[in-house]
Amino acid sequence: MKKFIFTAVAALATLSLSAQTQVIAHRGFHAQEGSDKNTISSLLNAQKLGVYGSECDISMSADDSLMVVHGSRHPDRRIPAPHRVHVTKDVYKDIRAISCKGGNIVPTLREYLEQTKKYPGTKLVIEIKNHKEDTPERQKFFTKKIVEMVAEFGLEKQVDYIAFSRIVCDELVKLAPNNEIAYLNGELTPAECKQLGYTGIDYSVKVLRAHPEWIKQAHDLGMKVNVWTVNKPEDMQYFIDLGVDFITTDDPLQTIELIKKSQKKSGKKAKRAKK
Ligand code: MG
Repeated sequence: MKKFIFTAVAALATLSLSAQTQVIAHRGFHAQEGSDKNTISSLLNAQKLGVYGSECDISMSADDSLMVVHGSRHPDRRIPAPHRVHVTKDVYKDIRAISCKGGNIVPTLREYLEQTKKYPGTKLVIEIKNHKEDTPERQKFFTKKIVEMVAEFGLEKQVDYIAFSRIVCDELVKLAPNNEIAYLNGELTPAECKQLGYTGIDYSVKVLRAHPEWIKQAHDLGMKVNVWTVNKPEDMQYFIDLGVDFITTDDPLQTIELIKKSQKKSGKKAKRAKK
């Protein structure tokens, strides 16, 4: 039954969602058996689902390897904290040695880009992480490395960038001026982001619920609006109704269903208005 629902919604997802809200799978579509956040498995699930994009977190190891991992510590919470690898302090081979809950290993950015290339219809939304150990110089260093690797794969048009760090975003404006660059931290108005050369805001549910007017302001400035991490149906509906461009979610299936329902409703309204 679960498999049937997955297939049915996947078919819906591949249909055009027109100019309305589109879905970004937060850390990939990981809510499937045997999958883990930020792994090839969750990226592949998102690609098969046919959503606009699959988000991922890129951090750099102590020996300068670009790894797809969110926190500074290894994501498997079954491992006691002192024994967990630390992405900025440990080296590539130690980070690779431990598997996540579902049995998946932490991928490299190179592996992620190889998988991204297999499905040109799904964007990779790269969040460039900065951890407290990362100096401004190091942030600039790994931002450059990431942009160069994306270019090496010829994936410039299939990648969007997001970051909490203004140092990272400012560097992206210089190094990847043709890409979408959205700021995550939430304290800047759309006009301030525009002034800095960012192309979008990607703010939390909390921030955008406090500033719903920023959605129209951003659109009036020709910017995109993304909201994270939207997992409650009432929040999904609220932001669909406000016309955000992207919803980043751990539950892409439910978000797709609500978008389709809203499209049907607005289609019926338009028909009635014509009569
Ligand atoms: Mg992220």
